Amino acid sequence: MIKIHTVGGFSEVGRNMTCLELNDDAFIFDCGLFLPPIVELEDNEKNSIYNEKGLRGIDAIPNDLVLDDKVRKKVRAILISHAHLDHVGAVPYLAQRYGEAVIAGTPYTIEILKTLMKDNNVKMRNELKTITPNSSLKIKDYNIEFINITHSTLQASLIVVHTKKGAIVYANDFKFDNSPILGRKPNYERLEELKKEGVLALVIDSLYSGSERKTPSEKIARDLLEEVMLTTNNKEGCIIVSTFSSHIARLKSIVDFAKQLDRKILFLGRSLYKYVVAADNCQLVPFMKDIELVTYSNQVKKKLSQIEKERRKWVIVCTGHQGEPGSVLDRMAREQLPFKFLKKDHIIFASSVIPSPINVANRDRLEKKFKEHGCRIFTDVHTSGHCGREDLRDMIYLLEPKHIIPAHGDLSKLTPMAELSTEMGYILGTSVHLMQNGSTLELDK
Ligand SMILES: [Zn+2]
Repeated sequence: MIKIHTVGGFSEVGRNMTCLELNDDAFIFDCGLFLPPIVELEDNEKNSIYNEKGLRGIDAIPNDLVLDDKVRKKVRAILISHAHLDHVGAVPYLAQRYGEAVIAGTPYTIEILKTLMKDNNVKMRNELKTITPNSSLKIKDYNIEFINITHSTLQASLIVVHTKKGAIVYANDFKFDNSPILGRKPNYERLEELKKEGVLALVIDSLYSGSERKTPSEKIARDLLEEVMLTTNNKEGCIIVSTFSSHIARLKSIVDFAKQLDRKILFLGRSLYKYVVAADNCQLVPFMKDIELVTYSNQVKKKLSQIEKERRKWVIVCTGHQGEPGSVLDRMAREQLPFKFLKKDHIIFASSVIPSPINVANRDRLEKKFKEHGCRIFTDVHTSGHCGREDLRDMIYLLEPKHIIPAHGDLSKLTPMAELSTEMGYILGTSVHLMQNGSTLELDK
C-alpha cells in the first residue's frame, strides 16, 4: 500500500506537511508553521500562543488530526527538507504526537530546530538525526536519501524514500542554481540516476509554477547588490541592508561588498543572531570574523548611537524587511532607537515582500516613514529561492516521475503546475493530482 496524505501547505503557502504511508510504516515530510495568523496577533497575545493548542486554534500549524491514530502510530520519522520556518517551525509543537519517530535533517536544519526548541523551552523525546547532504539513512527496511539542492538557505535537500514500487521524491522547496555563492550545486547526477531507478511520485514546489521563467541564480542577486552598494553615491551616509536572516549566501554578498567599501559591518537583531550563529556552529559562515553581531537591547542602543556619529564608516544589516512591527528596522524608522536618519542614508531591501496583505501593509508603512526622513530606498534587490515554471519542466525531464503532486500553495498556485504537467503528457486525476489539505492519494490501487 502506498498512500500520500497531503496534510498542510496544499491550501495555503505555509505549514507544509505531507505523510507517506507504506503498509506498516509511515514517514512525514516537513512540519512547518503558517506565519500570517501569528504576525497578525497583538504583541501581548503572542507570548501565550506558542504551544500546540494555541497554534492549532489559529491554524498556524498543520492540521495533522486528519491522520487517524493508526497512521499516526506508524510514523517512523519526520524528515525535514530545510531550515525555513514553514518547513521546520511546527516540529517543536507536534513531534510529541509521534513519540518514537526520529527527526532527521541536514546539520543546519537540525541546528535551527534545536534553537527553536530552546527559544520556546520545548523538550522532545524524539531522537534528532543529522544527515550530511547527499547521503542516506536506513529506517527499518527503508532507505532514505537527502539529495543536495539549491534554495535560499543552506543545506536544503530533496528527500527520497525508496519503496519497492519506485522512489517517492519530496522536492519542496528548490531552484536550480549552478552559482549558489555558498554551498554546492544541485546534485544532477543523482537525479539522473534516480530516473533510471524509477520515480513513482514527485511532490513538488509549485509556488511559482505560473511564472514563465527560470528563477535567476543567487549570482544575479549578488550582481544587483553589487550595483546598488558599489556604483551609487553613498559616501556620505549610512548603508542599511535588510534581508532574510536565514539567507546566509545573501549575507555573505552583503559582507563582501561592505568590505570593498572599506566599511565596518554590524548585524542587528535576534533572528539574524539566531540563524548566523546556528550556521557558524555548523562551520558554514565564512564571514564571522568580519562582522559584529549585536542582539541585546542596551547593546543595540549603545552601538547605534556610536554609528550615528560615524555613519559613513558603517554598513548595518538588520531584521525588518517585511516591515514587521517591533523589528530593528521598524524601531529605527520610528525613531525608537538612538539613530536619526539623514537624507544621504541608503536603505536596501535585499528581499521581496511576501505577498500577504499584512506584510504588504507593514512594508508600505515602513517605506513611508523612510520617505518622511528623506532616505534613498532600494527595493527588490533579490532573486527568489523558488523554482519558476521552466525549472519545474527541467525537474520533470530529469526525474520522469509516474505521478506528480503539486505542493506549496492553494489551488491558484497548484493549478499552473497541473497545467504544465498536462502540457508534458500527464493526465489530470490520473498521473497529476491536485490535492488539498486533508486529502489522501492512493498510488497502487
Ligand atoms: Zn524554503
